[in-house]
Amino acid sequence: MTYCYCTTCRSLHGAPFAPFVDVRREDLEWFERSLSSSTTTTTREGDGEWKNLGHSDETPAITKLRLSKAATRTFCASCHSPLTMVYNAVPDEVGLVATTIDEKLSAAPVPKVEQHIYLAQKPGWYDIPVKEGVKLYDGPTDYLKKWLEDAQE
Ligand SMILES: [Zn+2]
Repeated sequence: MTYCYCTTCRSLHGAPFAPFVDVRREDLEWFERSLSSSTTTTTREGDGEWKNLGHSDETPAITKLRLSKAATRTFCASCHSPLTMVYNAVPDEVGLVATTIDEKLSAAPVPKVEQHIYLAQKPGWYDIPVKEGVKLYDGPTDYLKKWLEDAQE
């Protein structure tokens, strides 16, 4: 789990940071839930309110947004919630926006935050939850830096 404090994430998420969990695309299945039902139960089987969209984000339910050469973000086409960020350098790895995960449906426990990135762009009014062992970066991590550089070539 990475919390990103970059200006773009903050404005797109309407929050002091965006929480991303890196997931292999093959391990990620999309489920669409109708917004009109707020009392949805969360069992996967036998629940007509959930629609399985499979592994691909090539569906009208998901809108794509490219703000840089390096990555593509996706949003829910109906409520505009941010869903993912995928770097061109690693297309099979999906940065899943953690707030979209239904923990009752998740096959694996959602990890706790491991690193805070782009802290130089953090809003002054927000104090990060600093814990022992959690890494802090003023900018991107080294691997992120490489993915960003690769996209410029
Ligand atoms: Zn960001």
